[in-house]
Amino acid sequence: MLVRNTLTEALPLRARLGTVGLVLSLEGARYYVFHSHQSRDQIAGVNLQQKIALHHELLRGNQPYNHAQDQQKFMALLPFARAMVAQTHMEPEGRHAEESMIENWNNILHDFKTVRGHPPRWADVFLNFCPCQVINNNPSPTRVLDHTHYPISCHRKLQQFCSTGNRLQMKWTIYYEQQFQNAMGLNIHVGNLRIMKLPPYIAMPV
Ligand SMILES: [Zn+2]
Repeated sequence: MLVRNTLTEALPLRARLGTVGLVLSLEGARYYVFHSHQSRDQIAGVNLQQKIALHHELLRGNQPYNHAQDQQKFMALLPFARAMVAQTHMEPEGRHAEESMIENWNNILHDFKTVRGHPPRWADVFLNFCPCQVINNNPSPTRVLDHTHYPISCHRKLQQFCSTGNRLQMKWTIYYEQQFQNAMGLNIHVGNLRIMKLPPYIAMPV
């Protein structure tokens, strides 16, 4: 968990190649940065695919790509690639950035109370992409996060998270910069939760 005292310091940490990033601001006083990460098997598959593509380029240059042959190789080597990755400390399951925030809430709360001396009253979340929805291709699956069962998609997870437990007394605003895949971006206001596209009047530090 990356923690900073200003948005100017936290925002550059949000950008990480191939991930969706999130900055959680509690009362504009503490900033927590989270990223999405792929599952162990996804990482093994992507790495293997890239290695096969590289071999193809080195051995066969610009000869036409033999997809069937490479696919066969991919399937033959995949168990080996997975076994290699399983020996690392990598988490078996993937996480969307929102899920990592939910999972780490107790640590976040502990940090905030220690530094500020009281529980947070409001939160702003800055995402580079809109939370995934059930209409997206691969929304985050139903998952147990911090001993609690959450439904499919980060949109629904955030709704449940913000309307339960010690989050209920707080005001939550989730800002995103771009829509996710082709799904229409969210614009909702339910109880203490607002999800909207980052309005132009909020200047982000560059
Ligand atoms: Zn998601």
